[in-house]
Amino acid sequence: MKYWKIVFRPLPATAMAIYPFILFKSRNQIDNPLLINHEMIHFRQQLELLILPFYLLYLIFYLINLAKSGNHDQAYRQSCFEQEAYANEQNFNYLKVRKSYAWLKFLFNSRHQ
Ligand SMILES: [Zn+2]
Repeated sequence: MKYWKIVFRPLPATAMAIYPFILFKSRNQIDNPLLINHEMIHFRQQLELLILPFYLLYLIFYLINLAKSGNHDQAYRQSCFEQEAYANEQNFNYLKVRKSYAWLKFLFNSRHQ
């Protein structure tokens, strides 16, 4: 998958996927394979949701999680999109075997946390 890397220091996270760009807070991170794999998983989520609905859902899930936990870090980590990415970022074959809409599995899991 073709993508472009951009260093953007004010980024409020280590990295962020905005298809077809990966934004990095620091130049030191731009070759971190784990981070890139994590962001590639987000690319796949974005593409299967036709990009814009991904951001809308991401925001809605975040706000629901934030309302439940009252904690930004927890709300971010409980996102089904993040759970899928964190659970599989160390598996460099994951995107070859991943089923479409795999994040749905984490959506239903996260309701019980
Ligand atoms: Zn992520």
